[in-house]
Amino acid sequence: MTQPSPASSSSLTVQAAWRELAARFRLAGLPSPEVDARELLGLVTALDTTGLVIRAAQVLSAEQTRRLEALARRREARQPLQHLLGVVEWAGLNLHVSPDALIPRPETEVLLELALDAAKHLVGPRILDVGTGTGALALGLKQARPDAAVTASDVSAPALALATRNAALNGLAVSFVQADLLTGLRGPYDLLVSNPPYLPAADEPGAQPEVRFDPALALYSGPDGLDLARRLVNQASGVLAPGGVMLLELDPRNVGVLAAELMGAGWRVRVHSDLTGRARFLEGRLGV
Ligand code: GLN
Repeated sequence: MTQPSPASSSSLTVQAAWRELAARFRLAGLPSPEVDARELLGLVTALDTTGLVIRAAQVLSAEQTRRLEALARRREARQPLQHLLGVVEWAGLNLHVSPDALIPRPETEVLLELALDAAKHLVGPRILDVGTGTGALALGLKQARPDAAVTASDVSAPALALATRNAALNGLAVSFVQADLLTGLRGPYDLLVSNPPYLPAADEPGAQPEVRFDPALALYSGPDGLDLARRLVNQASGVLAPGGVMLLELDPRNVGVLAAELMGAGWRVRVHSDLTGRARFLEGRLGV
């Protein structure tokens, strides 16, 4: 008797693979087993959801089965689905993602909207995105405002390489510069946006398993999460144009703390909520 070859053991239909994978992910305790199963099956078959339904009876090839198994194991080890897919859609952009930069979060689309609103009366605004990561904010701004001069900075060279790939992928012209916050940047900028690391360091041990695949550099920032944001706002007055605006994403636990500190330093401040109604975004303007 010969052992079944991998090919003969792979006579799974799309439908059976879908069902088995979702059940397996559910058992493994993944938060969205159906979505994960559908997306990974879509990746190996190059079919979208409609295609998967239409071809439910199609038999997976041995190669597809092998790839699906490898991906399933990585997902069970809690690698983020986005890292397995390699790209995410964010604010209408397709962005490459990797462990080199934070996976863009839905709440940051609200920061993009606030930034576009702040720039709506300006012609050819000069915009800086500090700590751009994948390039999401900078590219979202350039996409919506082709007249803007957008610069994106990051302290991490691998993150900048990823952001540069994303600019090319989306055909958007943004200037990239490696910098530690605003050190070495002169401006002036009409708008400064940033989604800095803002979580208290004590959050790290309790983070979701998937979040461990995001760079810690992009997430945690000292005891109250504000170490980097404080340094950034201290430098910001030196690069903002007269009447310039600063917009930051922060944590609901610390946005009020920094807002109070900025008011004490003479900034005019507004706090905006995210889609779940939690205070999250800080808008600051210098002077009267
Ligand atoms: N919102 C992110 C999270 O909860 C944190 C992003 C950040 O620190 N900039 O994982």
